[in-house]
Amino acid sequence: MASSYRIAIVGGGLAGLAAARSLATVGIEAHVFEQAPALGEIGAAVNISPQAVKALQAIGLGDKVAAVGHSSPGIYTRNMLTGEFLEFNDRIKTAARYGAPYYTFHRADLLDAIAGELDHSTVHLGHRLIGLEEGSDRVTLAFDNGTKIAAEYVIAADGVRSEVRRALYGADNPTYTGQMVWRALLDAGDVPPELIEPTGHVQWVGPGRHLIAYLIRRGKMLNIVTQQDTDKWVEEGWSTRGDADEMRASFPNSEPRLDKLLKLVTVCSKWGLFTRPLTRNWGRGRIQLIGDAAHAMLPNAGQGACQAFEDSYILGRWLGACPDPVEAFANFRRVRIPRVHGVQRLSFSNARFKHMHDATAQRQAVSAGTGSVHGNSEWVWGFDPVTEWDKEPAVPSAYAA
Ligand SMILES: Cc1cc2nc3c(=O)[nH]c(=O)nc-3n(C[C@H](O)[C@H](O)[C@H](O)COP(=O)(O)OP(=O)(O)OC[C@H]3O[C@@H](n4cnc5c(N)ncnc54)[C@H](O)[C@@H]3O)c2cc1C
Repeated sequence: MASSYRIAIVGGGLAGLAAARSLATVGIEAHVFEQAPALGEIGAAVNISPQAVKALQAIGLGDKVAAVGHSSPGIYTRNMLTGEFLEFNDRIKTAARYGAPYYTFHRADLLDAIAGELDHSTVHLGHRLIGLEEGSDRVTLAFDNGTKIAAEYVIAADGVRSEVRRALYGADNPTYTGQMVWRALLDAGDVPPELIEPTGHVQWVGPGRHLIAYLIRRGKMLNIVTQQDTDKWVEEGWSTRGDADEMRASFPNSEPRLDKLLKLVTVCSKWGLFTRPLTRNWGRGRIQLIGDAAHAMLPNAGQGACQAFEDSYILGRWLGACPDPVEAFANFRRVRIPRVHGVQRLSFSNARFKHMHDATAQRQAVSAGTGSVHGNSEWVWGFDPVTEWDKEPAVPSAYAA
């Protein structure tokens, strides 16, 4: 006979594990079913902005994430071809303004910090969901290892290629966005300090592309992540080992500092970026989607994981407040969809501004205050999930429906 659970979470990535932790803080036990044989994240970094740090603090992870997070004093932005200074984004002021730090993490450290606070008997590894059946009083989940379980309620945190999403809505597969990414990690000791500004955090923008480099692991490693417009993505997969020479060739005529930095890269990976159009298909009845399963977005506002952490905290609050989880899920969607759609729109518009081909127009917009290579993040970072979890979110008209 199939085992029974009250709440099953499918997917043990950042969203799924944070949701399990959030539910535990309101006294609800959830079981996580993850396809991988061990919990882990790819060797790359992630930025977490103040409002999402507040969500992590509110689920009791403040000290754990502070121990592995790196706080950059600020980001310098330069033109990729000329090295001209464009903008400085002061992260110390950001932290003071919003009342929480802005961290950069090695992804594995962040995942470990969250997983370390969970009861490990509730995390079931080696369970890849392959089938889902909705019943009147339960959902039956089938896994590739032959296990079947019944859950009264399901939280789907199984990423952009969500099997739960496919079971509910059919094959609305994410499509290639016309943008690809290179990622590389360097030992910071190998990087001459003059290449990465006094803050160890620099962004170069240029025609149809940009590159960001920042320190993680308390300054021991440098993460490089790029993004470029290209229709040349052909591989079936979307994360593959890259070729360092090909990566360098993607940044022709770079200013000398960027050129020297790129010459240090020996190992890299490349990713195609996939999303789906904004959708209100975030679950129904006993099933709730969160994180990339609900709302995959371009990384240009640095918000995919941040929104997943907001989701996790706010879903926990609604489940703690409503005796009926179906009602909690409906309330969750009511307050979350308008905000996350706004952030998805911001991510698209940031990419357009960063990748402008007319450097003069871009410079003029930055100095006139009508544009920013960081986009307008005031309303994103200024949100306080702890005091606003049950309120209709304020979204500026430029990003509202
Ligand atoms: C280049 C790049 C840079 C980024 N930078 C940032 C940033 O700086 N800041 C930020 O906030 N966000 C960033 N993001 C976005 C962020 O990485 C994602 O939004 C975040 O990882 C989503 O977490 P998730 O848990 O929803 O999904 P995932 O991380 O994809 O986790 C899904 C989990 O579900 C499991 N799973 C999948 N299918 C099944 C199945 N059938 N059965 C069981 N388990 C399953 C997977 O193994 C995985 O563990 C970036 C993204 C990219 C591509």
